[in-house]
Amino acid sequence: MSTTLSAPPLGLLLEDLVRQHRPRKETGAVPGNIPFLASVPFDRFGIAVATTSGEVFCSGDADVPFSIQSISKVFTLALALQGSRSARLWSRVLREPSGTAFNSLVQLEAEHGIPRNPFINAGALVVTDHLMEETSDAAGQLLRFLTEQAGGQQSGPGKQGPFIDGAAATGELASSSRNLALAHFLKDFGNLAQPAESVVENYVRQCSIMMTCRELARAGLFLANDGQGAAGTVLSRSEAKRIGSIMLTCGMYDAAGEFAYRVGLPGKSGVGGGILVIVPGQCAICVWSPRLDAKGNSLAGTAALADLSDRTGWSVF
Ligand code: GLN
Repeated sequence: MSTTLSAPPLGLLLEDLVRQHRPRKETGAVPGNIPFLASVPFDRFGIAVATTSGEVFCSGDADVPFSIQSISKVFTLALALQGSRSARLWSRVLREPSGTAFNSLVQLEAEHGIPRNPFINAGALVVTDHLMEETSDAAGQLLRFLTEQAGGQQSGPGKQGPFIDGAAATGELASSSRNLALAHFLKDFGNLAQPAESVVENYVRQCSIMMTCRELARAGLFLANDGQGAAGTVLSRSEAKRIGSIMLTCGMYDAAGEFAYRVGLPGKSGVGGGILVIVPGQCAICVWSPRLDAKGNSLAGTAALADLSDRTGWSVF
């Protein structure tokens, strides 16, 4: 991997990315099933880079909390792979790109209730069910993990640390017919131990966690750092590498190929407009801008990451 951190230095480069990529007009979409996300101003743009040497560089709205949505799926997978039961998880969910939308029902029925990967909704519901076999409050477990990895409550000036937005969760739950349908399919195929409703309720609370770019970059650092997190080992080096591989192939749903082409790095997006990206051995990057493309990925965020990767040479290729 090449690293050409030539001038300008990273801090200035991030400021320039904010200048270039902060949306000036209201383009793109907001998710229809999460009312709370429609009210976020379209011109928000933040970026943070947490390096394996312990520095954090931020620019724009990097200290404004946003809804992490599906970025949570990376961290629930990490938690699920920590336990001795991880082999059982891989008998319930595959590791193949889906090529379908993140909330598609079609493939799940055709493939007899085994989701293609843990980063589409069906797969994340299975991961949640797996976590709930050990604790009924998997969302609380995730929140504690993220708070610890993000550096507790000290992670930004005046910031309170990660928290669950209860109103956002309630709003999403009220329009979760599709996720409930996925959960009932899973249940019918014998791939869910808990009641479908409790798994979806728990999953929606995970998605409703609010974090800043600074906090998410720090929380994701263990994936760039051979599994070593803020408070010690999170995962083995091999498991951290594998999560990166699944991010590369499945992290952007049916835009995974296009994202790999444009950015060349493992990433995971959420419909809150955040994208977490890993540069193995070097840093974790979080970019946030709320307006989405047709596949549910941040428009300005993807463009900024493509620019950043071109200008730094950061890529796994
Ligand atoms: N909570 C959202 C959903 O389940 C998460 C989707 C996403 O971020 N891609 O629809």
